[in-house]
Amino acid sequence: MKTGFIAITGATSGIGHATAQTFIQKGYRVLLLGRRIDRLASLASDDVLIRQVAATDRVALDAALADATEAFGPVEAIINNAGRMLLGQIETQGAEEWEEMFDVNALGVLHGMQAVLPSMVERKTGTIINISSIAGKKTFADHAAYVGTKFAVHSMSENVRGEVASHGVRVMTIAPGVVETELLGHTTSDAIKDGYNEWKQSIEGGLDPQIVADTVLFAFEQPQHVNIREIVLAPTKQVD
Ligand code: NDP
Repeated sequence: MKTGFIAITGATSGIGHATAQTFIQKGYRVLLLGRRIDRLASLASDDVLIRQVAATDRVALDAALADATEAFGPVEAIINNAGRMLLGQIETQGAEEWEEMFDVNALGVLHGMQAVLPSMVERKTGTIINISSIAGKKTFADHAAYVGTKFAVHSMSENVRGEVASHGVRVMTIAPGVVETELLGHTTSDAIKDGYNEWKQSIEGGLDPQIVADTVLFAFEQPQHVNIREIVLAPTKQVD
C-alpha cells in the first residue's frame, strides 16, 4: 500500500517534466504543479494529481498540497524546480525581469520549503530537493540577476538543511550545467540567445533532461539517513 506523495514544481516542461515521468514510472504518487497544465493532461491518473499553481501563489500551493495530502497521505518530498532564466546585461535589463526571476527562482523555493516543513518536521522525515544551477556556484557573462537567484538557492538550501537536519529532514541541492530545455527561450535578447547557442554548440550541446531526472531520483532514493547534500552535473565538455 503506497502512502504519501512527491510534489514537483515546474512539471510542465524540461527537467520538471522528465522528473515527473521518472517518478511516475517508478510507482510514486505525485502532485504536479505549473501554469500550463494542459501539458500534464496525458499524465493524469489515480496516482497523479495535477494543479495549476504559479510559483509565486502560496495560497494555491497550500491548497494543492492539502488536496494531495487528502488523496495520498503526507508529503514525502518536494522538488522545487520551477524557474526562469532571463539573461541580460545589467546596464540595460528591465527590473521587471530581475523581479520575475527572484520571485520564481528564490521566493518560489522559500515558499516551497515553508509549505512542507511543518508536516515533515512533525513527522521527523521528508526530503526537499531544490534545483539550483552551476550558476549558483560560478558567475557567467550576462547572468548577473540569474546567478543572484541561484546563489540564493544554494545558500538558502544549505541554511535550511542545517536547521532541519536534527528532525530527520533532508535538504538537497541539484546543480546542473547546461540542459536541453525551453529555459533559454525565456531570455528576451536575441543577441544573448545567439551567443549562448553558439557556446552550447561548441560543447556539443547540453544534457538530456532525463539525466537530471535520473540524478534527482538517485538522490531521493538513498536511505533517509543518507543526505546527498549537493550534486553538480554538467556536460563533460562544459568547462565553466
Ligand atoms: P523549462 O523552461 O523547460 O521549465 C521551467 C519550468 O518552470 C516550467 O515547467 C514552467 O512551467 C515552470 N515555471 C516557470 N515560471 C513559473 C511560474 N511563475 N510559476 C510556476 N511555474 C513556473 O526549463 P528547465 O527545465 O531547464 O528549468 C527547470 C529548472 O532547472 C529551473 O529552476 C532552472 O533554473 C534549472 N536549471 C536549468 C538548466 C538548463 O540549462 N536548462 C541548467 C541549470 C539549472 P509553466 O511555465 O507551465 O508554469
